[in-house]
Amino acid sequence: MNTAAERFASPGFGPENLPYGSFSPKGAGPRLGVRLGGRAIDLQALSTAVEGLDGETRLAIDTPNLDALLTAGHQSWASLRRWLVDVVTREGLGDEVEAASFPVEQVEMHMPFTVADYVDYYASEHHASNIGKMFRPDQAPLLPNWKHLPVGYHGRAGTVIPSGRNFPRPKGLRPEPGGNPSFGPSRRLDIEAEIGFVLGGSAPAGEVGVAQAAAEHIFGAVLFNDWSARDIQNYEYVPLGPYLGKSFASSISLWVVPFEALGAARVDPPVRDVAVAGYLDDSAGGPWGLDITMEVIVDGQSISHPPVRTLYWTAPQMVAHMTVNGAGLRPGDFFGSGTVSGPEKNQRGSFMELSWGGKEPVLLADGKQMTFLGDGQTVTLRGTAPGPDGTIIDFGECTATILPATPAADSVPAGP
Ligand code: CA
Repeated sequence: MNTAAERFASPGFGPENLPYGSFSPKGAGPRLGVRLGGRAIDLQALSTAVEGLDGETRLAIDTPNLDALLTAGHQSWASLRRWLVDVVTREGLGDEVEAASFPVEQVEMHMPFTVADYVDYYASEHHASNIGKMFRPDQAPLLPNWKHLPVGYHGRAGTVIPSGRNFPRPKGLRPEPGGNPSFGPSRRLDIEAEIGFVLGGSAPAGEVGVAQAAAEHIFGAVLFNDWSARDIQNYEYVPLGPYLGKSFASSISLWVVPFEALGAARVDPPVRDVAVAGYLDDSAGGPWGLDITMEVIVDGQSISHPPVRTLYWTAPQMVAHMTVNGAGLRPGDFFGSGTVSGPEKNQRGSFMELSWGGKEPVLLADGKQMTFLGDGQTVTLRGTAPGPDGTIIDFGECTATILPATPAADSVPAGP
């Protein structure tokens, strides 16, 4: 077995995937790596051992994470991937790849890139409809703007955290029946199973079109759990939208799957029954839907399979929307799709929907029932997409455990 792919590839992490991450081998500093099977390959070391990578791209990978590569732009991304695919599939280079790599279970993973600006969308029609039915039962499930633009809000970039980092239950003001809120730990801690997109290149004047977004700015995708405190969110969100109910933690998976690896996963998005403005027209060059299936696992038990292909709005549309007003785009900009929910109950991506606002407890395989998350519970997202020729693209996992709230510093009485 002379090629690295033959020696190391595993289902989901073959030469058709090659996701990027930042890792430290034992006793050494962080570096940019790529994953093949169960190996984390040090890209700088590999580019020294095997010639053929252009100088500009070599400079962009001689760093601890993806930041410099995201800045270098799409030509460097393409050049690096071409070289990598060649290296791991070329006869006689298995030893070089082995020497530059480490078993993934022996390395420490870090945030793969520095998040610049973070935006959270609301792109799943089933999710938006479910929330509408619960919050506004007397009205149409979707608000009038929903099919004319991808609804979103700006979040806190600094609170996007790496998979595996646990965090305490957030505290805040919770609505109470009497009218006055009470301060304390969230009683309705939830998940949001989303897909996240990592952007690169620069567009300081914004106005990035759909085609340009896909060709030049969407670097890759990760699993994204946008943890949400529904009670804090419910009290604070009028009139300006979500804030502290969302910003305590949002976890991302640690191996960024290149957009180029998702070619075989591209599918038509759902039929749009409302005409959109020209800047959101994504009918050319597509299809831009992505056939990624996520899995939500609670304390080791699988409870849901949110289908990303059902998202009404596609990633290039979301990039076009965030820049159409002239807002610049920077390397490291990141956005979440919004909770992914399919039409079926076991395709819902939040406990808010799975338990229908807490009214219909979810029955776990071990016989326990639950609505929202308790202390000590662990939620893991997994995700896969079809690769070329029957292969699979694996997104790895995005996981964290809820720690008990820190002691309250203050409180206000409940109700008058
Ligand atoms: Ca969200």
